[in-house]
Amino acid sequence: MTKTAQLDLKSLVKDVPDFPQKGIIFKDITPLLAAPKAFDDAITRLAAPYQGKGVKAVAGIESRGFLLAAGVALKLGAGVVPIRKKGKLPRATHCESYDLEYGKASIEAHQDAFARGDKVVLVDDVLATGGTAAAALRIIERIGARVVGVSFLIELGFLHGRDKVKGYAVDSLISY
Ligand code: AMP
Repeated sequence: MTKTAQLDLKSLVKDVPDFPQKGIIFKDITPLLAAPKAFDDAITRLAAPYQGKGVKAVAGIESRGFLLAAGVALKLGAGVVPIRKKGKLPRATHCESYDLEYGKASIEAHQDAFARGDKVVLVDDVLATGGTAAAALRIIERIGARVVGVSFLIELGFLHGRDKVKGYAVDSLISY
């Protein structure tokens, strides 16, 4: 990854102070998603480490993770699996709860979302405290799939989210 490319992507992420609550600086990625070259660059770089590695599915976390995971899945010739907030998926699920930078939440995936041993990449927009990604990883592994990597567009390094996803290959394109 070149420093220039990283700076270009970073300039398309807007800081929104005190959203959705006081004290949080929300990272708004909608300008990046709306810029075709930057979006393509981000998707290409998120997918790059996994080209030719036999990845069967890319799991994306609701909701901005869906947009990135779909692009990465298409690049890899893999399927895309939504990991959703509790109550949204219509069939039997595995559910996990976790603490968020702001609040508490539960996410779930269909119990048959992956086959046993499938190689899976997990994708989300922001690694903050790491609770969301850790919960998603627990779900994927309960189903019996094999996580080959975890990729984020943005990493908030000062929140030490990597501590919660220790032991996995973790990548991020933009760091704060
Ligand atoms: P965490 O579990 O603390 O790592 O939080 C990660 C999840 O919350 C991701 O799905 C993000 O979409 C969202 N999130 C957390 N902090 C922020 C932030 N500062 N800006 C935008 N999204 C965030």
